[in-house]
Amino acid sequence: MQIVFTDKELAIFKKIAAAAEKLAVPCYLIGGFVRDKIIGRPTKDADIVCMGDGIELAHAVAASFKPKPVVAYFKTFGTAQIKLDELEVEFVGARKESYSSHSRKPEVEPGTIEDDQNRRDFTINALAVSLNKHDFGTLVDPFNGMGDIEKKIIQTPLPPLQTFSDDPLRMMRAIRFAAQLHFTIAPETFQAITDNADRIRIVSQERITDELNKIMLSKKPSVGWDLLFRSRLLHIIFPQMADLYGAEYVDGKGHKDNFYHTLQVLDNISEKTGDLWLRWAAVLHDIAKPATKKFEEGHGWTFHGHEVVGARMVPKIFTRLKLPLNEKMKLVQKLVLLHLRPIGLTKENITDSALRRLLFDAGEDIDNLMMLCEADITSKNPNKVKRYLQNFELVRRRLQEVEEKDQIRNWQPPITGELIMEKFGLTPGRPVGIIKDAIREAILDGIISNDFDAAYAYMLGKAAELNLKAVK
Ligand code: ATP
Repeated sequence: MQIVFTDKELAIFKKIAAAAEKLAVPCYLIGGFVRDKIIGRPTKDADIVCMGDGIELAHAVAASFKPKPVVAYFKTFGTAQIKLDELEVEFVGARKESYSSHSRKPEVEPGTIEDDQNRRDFTINALAVSLNKHDFGTLVDPFNGMGDIEKKIIQTPLPPLQTFSDDPLRMMRAIRFAAQLHFTIAPETFQAITDNADRIRIVSQERITDELNKIMLSKKPSVGWDLLFRSRLLHIIFPQMADLYGAEYVDGKGHKDNFYHTLQVLDNISEKTGDLWLRWAAVLHDIAKPATKKFEEGHGWTFHGHEVVGARMVPKIFTRLKLPLNEKMKLVQKLVLLHLRPIGLTKENITDSALRRLLFDAGEDIDNLMMLCEADITSKNPNKVKRYLQNFELVRRRLQEVEEKDQIRNWQPPITGELIMEKFGLTPGRPVGIIKDAIREAILDGIISNDFDAAYAYMLGKAAELNLKAVK
C-alpha cells in the first residue's frame, strides 16, 4: 500500500513544509487523513501537527497563498483551520497528555511527534507523514498501523485498558470504525471494551450520539449495532434497543428475535436510502415489542398496539439520545405509528376509502412508509419474500390510482373554517370543528368527491342537522 496524494494536495503540503521550515518548526500530516489515503477512502480534512505553535504556523502558511485564505483559530485549544482548495486543513501543536485517575481532564503539555502519536486512539489513526525537508513524505508508523490497515484490524497503540479509561468514547469510536471500514476489532481490544463498558456513562451524550449516527450512516449499520450489543455498551447507552434481543418460549412456541430482525430491517432500508432518519425509523419500528408482548392461549405471541406504544416512545428516546426534537423526530414517529398499515392493505377487496385514509395519514411520507414496509420483510423464504413484495407493489399501484383520482396526499380542506363561520355567523368554536371534520370524513369515505362544490353542499346539510341558520 502506498500513499498517493493528488497534485493539488502535494502542492499544498509542499507549501506547508516550506512555511514550517522557515519557522524551524517540524511538522507532520497525521491521523484520519493518512489512514484514509492509505485505504483509498475520500478525505476532506487534513490534520497537521507541529512541534511548535499551530496557530503561528497556520498564519505563515496562509501568507504564502494568494489570495490569502482566512485563518480560523481558537486560542484556548491552540488550533487553527484554513480551507485550501477543497481541503480543510487543521493545525495544532504536538501534545503530550497524561491522565490521572482522579480527574477526567488530561494534563496537556507540548510534546514530540512520538508523544502525539501515543495519545491517539488506534494504531490506524496514529500514522504520520513527515512534511520536513530532510525526509518529506516518509511514513512515521511506530505502532505498525500500516500492518493493521492491511490486516483490517482495529487496536489501540497502548494497552487498551489505559486507552479506554483515558477517554471511554474511544470504545464507541472503535466500533464506529469497525462499522465504517469493515475492520475487525482485535480480541484484546474488544475484551477491554466489554470490561470497561460501564465507563461510557461519564461521556457526554452528544459525543456518544455523534458516534451512533456515524454507525447509522455506515454502509451496513447492523455491524456496529451488533458490536455495541455484544460489548454490552448498548445496554447502557440505549437499553430499550438491547431489550429487543432474544426469543421467549411458551409451550414450545417462540417468537422471532426482534433485535436481529430490527438489524435486518435497518440493513434492508440502508440499501435503499442514505437518509439518517429513515434509518432511525427502521431501528425504532418495533421498539415497543418487549413492552407489548403477550402469550395468548390458542393464538401464540402477540404484540398488540406496539406501533402506538412505539410512537409514544420515540420522543422519549430522542430526548435521551439528544437527537433533535423537530420535524425529523415527527417523521420517525409517524413511520413507527403507521408501519403496519400497508400490510392491512395487502388483502383482497380493499376499498378506496382505506387507501385514501392511509394517503391522508401518511401525507408526503407515503413513499418513505412503503420503503420501511418493504424493508420490514425479513423472511428467509424467497418465495414468501417475493409474494410479500408483489403484494406491496399492488398496494403502491392502488395508492397511486387513488391519489391521481382524489389528490389526498397533500390534502387541504376545500372549505375553510373562515367560510363556515361567515356563512353561519359563528365565532371559533365546536360547531365549526364538527362541520370541518364531517366534510373531511365524507371525502375520505368517498361519500362526496374532493372538491369545493360537493363539500359546500355537504356543509349545508351538516349545518341543518346542527340547526344552524345561514346568515349570508
Ligand atoms: P472521521 O473524520 O471519519 O470522523 P477521524 O478519526 O479521521 O474520523 P476525527 O474524529 O476528526 O477524524 O479525529 C482525527 C484524529 O484525531 C483521529 O484520526 C485520531 O488520531 C485522533 N482522535 C480523534 N478523537 C480521538 C480520541 N477520542 N482519542 C484519541 N485520539 C483521537
